[in-house]
Amino acid sequence: MKKLTLLGVLCIFAMHTMLIAQEVTDPKATEVWDPEPVAVSFNTNNVPSDAIVLFDGSDLNNWESAREKNAPASWTLDRDGSMTVKPGAGDIKTKETFGSVQLHLEWRAPQTIKSEGQGRGNSGVFFQNRYEVQILDSYKNRTYANGQATAVYKQYPPLVNATKPSTEWQTYDIIFHAPVFNAQGNKVKSGTFTVIHNGVVVQDHIEILGTTEYIGPAKNPPHGEDVIKLQDHGNLVSYRNIWVRRL
Ligand code: MG
Repeated sequence: MKKLTLLGVLCIFAMHTMLIAQEVTDPKATEVWDPEPVAVSFNTNNVPSDAIVLFDGSDLNNWESAREKNAPASWTLDRDGSMTVKPGAGDIKTKETFGSVQLHLEWRAPQTIKSEGQGRGNSGVFFQNRYEVQILDSYKNRTYANGQATAVYKQYPPLVNATKPSTEWQTYDIIFHAPVFNAQGNKVKSGTFTVIHNGVVVQDHIEILGTTEYIGPAKNPPHGEDVIKLQDHGNLVSYRNIWVRRL
């Protein structure tokens, strides 16, 4: 490459100065019109039209047993448009697999308060069958901070405890970005979680360390799209209005 002469450098400097001096006066010069963002509409349940509805209260057809292959999800379908964990029936998982998603769900703790700590209203939502955002009746119920409601289990405590009393329904709005693995099976980009609990940001784009293990450090085995799983921890946690949007 030719070396820039001093004159050349001076010319470029002068051009830049002129461009900066040329004030943009037309507001249209910085407008972007295309492509136009697609319009989304909402149904009576406030579900966006581009969402995949996983549970609307009518049936458990989008779910199956996580324990037994090709067995139906046998949790209890309630009369009020919700479903409830059937203790002992095992976790349930979506039939469909997902990568990065926005997920909305509503849950309610058991109506009879039993036990304490991790034993009180414990369930959980697992993304890609591996990464748990904790569901727990954390209203005036102390446990380890990285194991309370909305904790990324054993990795990140929530920023605040936004849990409502057990009589009330609660919302989780979760933005999950899946980790990325290279051809050699090494993680090259961490997954992330942003979690909004009852309208309050409790996980702000945290980097997932790996699988959310009960014992020991996180692991990072490579994987592709996988199911969303709800946990049977033996407690009567109820769910309603579950939908996802692929990102
Ligand atoms: Mg749990």
